[in-house]
Amino acid sequence: LPTSGDSIRRRFLDFYASRGHKVLPSSSLVPDDPTVLLTIAGMLQFKPIFLGKVPRQVPRATTAQRCIRTNDVENVGKTSRHHTFFEMLGNFSFGDYFKKEAIKWAWELSTIEYGLPADRLWISVYEDDDEAFAIWTKEVGVPVERIKRMGDEDNFWTSGVTGPCGPCSEIYYDFQPERGYSDVDLGDDTRFIEFYNLVFMQYNKKDDGSLEPLKQMNIDTGLGLERMARILQKVPNNYETDLIYPIIEKASELANVSYALADDHAKMNLKVIGDHLRAIVYLISDGVVPSNIGRGYVARRLIRRAVRTGRLLGIKGDGRGNPEGAFLPTIAEKVIELSSQIDPDVKSRAPRILEELKREELRFVQTLERGEKLLDEMLANALLNSNENGNGPILSGKDVFLLYDTYGFPVEITTEAAEEHGVGIDMNGFEIEMENQRRQSQAAHNAVKLAVGNGAVLTENISDTEFLGYETLSTKAVIEG
Ligand code: ATP
Ligand code: MG
Ligand code: MG
Ligand code: MG
Repeated sequence: LPTSGDSIRRRFLDFYASRGHKVLPSSSLVPDDPTVLLTIAGMLQFKPIFLGKVPRQVPRATTAQRCIRTNDVENVGKTSRHHTFFEMLGNFSFGDYFKKEAIKWAWELSTIEYGLPADRLWISVYEDDDEAFAIWTKEVGVPVERIKRMGDEDNFWTSGVTGPCGPCSEIYYDFQPERGYSDVDLGDDTRFIEFYNLVFMQYNKKDDGSLEPLKQMNIDTGLGLERMARILQKVPNNYETDLIYPIIEKASELANVSYALADDHAKMNLKVIGDHLRAIVYLISDGVVPSNIGRGYVARRLIRRAVRTGRLLGIKGDGRGNPEGAFLPTIAEKVIELSSQIDPDVKSRAPRILEELKREELRFVQTLERGEKLLDEMLANALLNSNENGNGPILSGKDVFLLYDTYGFPVEITTEAAEEHGVGIDMNGFEIEMENQRRQSQAAHNAVKLAVGNGAVLTENISDTEFLGYETLSTKAVIEG
């Protein structure tokens, strides 16, 4: 199929190969760079070249880079376009071509190679980048009404706190052109999707925040493969593309639900599984071992969230007849089946990946189940005591916090279980416990914080059973330089 994820990837690489770019393999999710926790973009493997620290091997390159962005974990399943794991297709110039070629080729790729209608495409440029604006209007012919000038947050790209950076220009697809030209917000997820970012990499951001011009002008781009697949396959979100949907189907089979008939909440949970399973398979494949520090901590959090989400969906057992078995490996097999074009090494590592997932899941489930027993006891006690003192039955803030902190029970789960038994919850008491915990962990955090390179925090200790619920996954785990 010309619109399959695999063909979109291949056509991108072929397009740039025929324009003098060397096709290079994706680098690992674990970057060779102490200032960055995980590979967040295609440019990371080329950072030393951009900075002039190592000579370029070729003037132009193109890659399909696997990426992890933990800062997008809260968006997973909520927006139509964000994943923790995704592939970024990129074309790069190391002091070779610059804005003009980058813009013209990006347009040609989008409108001719991928065949997107030109009048559906909108452009953003950095607020004072008159040069890029002029190329888009005069040379490409995009009407000025469909070009937006935007500020630092959207249109000045930096790979981290420090490092190569520059103004950028993005291409957006318009799903609702009938809404016209007034009150246009390119960040509106229902109307637009940003799919291609062209970074005009010409500065190095220093420790003190100042911008030092690089010796040469470079191009660094990123096109989200899942986003282009979503546009070309005409599905409502990235999750329903052939890159992810088979994983969701596998999960629905195990949960005995139908994605098509599921309510929004269940759909979101299925999307979380579709996303997180990809992330953890590729993380483990690239050598990350679940643990309580750094990258291992990211993997552990994603695994635990996937396990909890699966249980919420009603998945029991391994889906192969063993009610005590782990289900992550069953779904991970589907991820591995789909992996050959993303990373040809994953298949040969399958036994290790599946074993690691099984061990981690079963260990976490033990903790969860001990918590469930404890919760039952707490509820029974609450009912008993309420008969004695005449008040309605209530779970204390301390109890709710213990379940949350030690056994990984988010408050919603405890509330639901309590409601089923007609027991209330002391939310105030819980908030007080949370606040105490926050204060303590801030102190602990300050004590164990380990600054690496340009101040990026790579390791951080957490207690073995601590699980803050997934709302806080990113705040603790995003430690990108
Ligand atoms: P957004 O504004 O949608 O969050 P971004 O501006 O953060 O995207 P860039 O840093 O410009 O993204 O990355 C380049 C491209 O990579 C984006 O244009 C998009 O196609 C893709 N991309 C970025 N983040 C994600 C993600 N979390 N999931 C899937 N694709 C992504
Ligand atoms: Mg983003
Ligand atoms: Mg953006
Ligand atoms: Mg962008």
